[in-house]
This record gives sequence, C-alpha cells and structure tokens, in this order.
Amino acid sequence: MSSSDHGSKDFYKILGVSKDATQADVKKAYRQLARENHPDSHPGDKAAEERFKDVSEAYSVLSNPEKRKEYDEQRTLFSQFGGGGAGFPGGAGVDFDLGDILGGFFGGGRGARGARTRAPRARRGDDVETEATLTFEQAVEGATLPLRTASDEPCGTCHGTGARPGTVPKVCPRCEGSGVQTGASGGVFAMTETCTQCQGRGLVVEHACDTCRGSGRAPSARTITVRVPAGVKDGQRIRLKGKGGKGDNGGPDGDLFLVVHVTPHPVFGRKGDHLTVTVPVAYDEAVLGAQISAPTLDGSRVTLKVPAGTPSGRTFRVRGKGVATSKATGDLLVTVQVQVPTEIGDEERAAVEALRAARGGRSPRDDEFEKVS
Ligand code: ZN
Ligand code: ZN
Repeated sequence: MSSSDHGSKDFYKILGVSKDATQADVKKAYRQLARENHPDSHPGDKAAEERFKDVSEAYSVLSNPEKRKEYDEQRTLFSQFGGGGAGFPGGAGVDFDLGDILGGFFGGGRGARGARTRAPRARRGDDVETEATLTFEQAVEGATLPLRTASDEPCGTCHGTGARPGTVPKVCPRCEGSGVQTGASGGVFAMTETCTQCQGRGLVVEHACDTCRGSGRAPSARTITVRVPAGVKDGQRIRLKGKGGKGDNGGPDGDLFLVVHVTPHPVFGRKGDHLTVTVPVAYDEAVLGAQISAPTLDGSRVTLKVPAGTPSGRTFRVRGKGVATSKATGDLLVTVQVQVPTEIGDEERAAVEALRAARGGRSPRDDEFEKVS
C-alpha cells in the first residue's frame, strides 16, 4: 500500500477549486484540466496520464452534489480520526468505498444508500506463460533470448480510457459516476446493482476507441528480451518477475513464466549440474591402463588416467567441468565403455586367439556364479 492513496487525495486541490466552488466552477475546471492532461496530447507521459486520471476521479465525486456532500463529511471525520493526513484505509488504486469504511468504523450498515465513490481500479498485469526451446549449450551457459509474448494490456490507442483519441470519457449520467444504481422496486428495500449503462465503471465513452471498442484494454503482442540463467533443465518453469502483462492504474506488472525445452546434445548429457559423456576404451587400455582424452562442452579436451584393470562402465569425475550456475559448478562425469571391435585385421585376430589360448580353460563366469549354485 503506497503512502499516497486515494483517500488522502484532495479532490478540490486536484481540480484547483475552492471548497465552496459552484457546480459550474467544478465543471469548468475539470474541462480545462482534462484537456490539458489528456493522454492523447502527451503520448507516453505517465505523469500526465496520472493527472488525467486524478482529475477524472475528482470530477466524478465533486460533480455529484450528493457524493460531494458525503466526501466533505467524511474528510472532516477522517481529519478528526486519523490526524496527520494518514489517509483513508484503502491503498493506491484499491477500489475503495467510503460507505463500507465508515460502516466498519461505526458498526453501522452500509453508508449513504449504497453511494460508492469509485476510484480507477488498480489492476495487476496478467501472468503470462510461454515456452522457449534452448540448445543444450544455451541451457548450460545461460542465454539472452528475444521472446514474443501476448497479453492483455491497456489499449495503446486510447491509453486505457476507452475513448476515441481526441475525446474523453464522461461521467456516467445514469449513476452519476457511482457505478451503482438503485433498482426500481416498489418494496421497502431498494436494491443497489451495478450500473447497466457504464457496467460499474462510473464513466461512459461516447465515442468508443476503434482499437479496443471502448473496453480500454487490448491484446498486445510484444517482443521482450529475457535472460535465462545458466543451468536450466528441460521442462523447467522459470519465473521472470515483472516480465508479464503491464499493470493498470499503478498496478504492478505481471510475471512471465517460461517453460524451457532443451534439445539433446549428440555427445553430452546432463545429470543436474553435472555433464555426462561416454568415452570408448579398447580392451587392452582397460586391462593395462592408459591415458585417455575426453571432450568437454567448451570444445577443449581433458586428459585422464584410466588405471589398469578398469571395468567397462566405470565413471571418472573431472572436477569443475560441468554446469556453472550462480550457486555451484558441476563436474564432468566420464564413463568409459570397453569397445568390442566387430571387424579386426589378421594381426589383431592372431593376438586375440593367442589371448584365448593363454586364458586356458578359465572362464570369467566360473567365480561369478559360484554363490548361486
Ligand atoms: Zn453508470
Ligand atoms: Zn482503446
């Protein structure tokens, strides 16, 4: 909740009129200020847009004699209660209802026949979900990606007012800006319902914006740049705060949820932050030991020592050659696999036959299955 909330706004000050200004004065001041601060004359100027909204809000209250009276009374009350300009409860952009607030304070019912003072509702931007496919390397190293996202945002043509450029929305004549109307019922209870003319907005648009047809919101596709951190995994859903849909009336921007897909690598695999790779070794290398070279993802190679008597499938760890995330750096896990040739030359065949002869009648299964039988 921000310190400058609607409740503490001085509508007289906003319109630059005195407390005893006539309705004609109020109207004149509003017209002048609405023209001066109209978003169409100040494209992209947030401050002017805010002033325009404030002016419209102030006018929606002060132009209605009943609501103006109520506002005056409540300001007097709150200056006694809150002191120090603490303002009404109800934060920036929250749809506040003076009747409810006073009802809560005094334990009474709803205030003043359901008359509501509507502030433009702050609206948090939409959360948007989208997908991106990264290469294996991008997932490991992190990547900056352009992303096209679609979300519902304040209409760019009318800046969210819903009115055709050059025109301004006016206070709804049916509900006089309150957003509610009292239903015609012959009984004792008057029912209040959302105004049918303005759908509760308090403002009506005479000449609807062509882009959004008066709704003030429009789907928008935009391309944004996002930074995907190093070490994301296939299927992971990452949250990019504030990269979703734009908020309205001071509401925060939504978040972007990005589901990443990672294309597999022909050589390397991932095991958390570790990279995996399988390296073939010859039988004699496994038996006698060898220095072998293994690839790393950055294209360089590492040498590792395979000791004599290494079985096929044993994994060796090369520290620090895995995925470097902001938290830790993983390792490269090198698994050796004894390669059995399918085609061999005469010399090799003779050597292998000599090996068989040297083995004698001994079988590697002799000891292996002793426990079973
Ligand atoms: Zn209305
Ligand atoms: Zn529009």
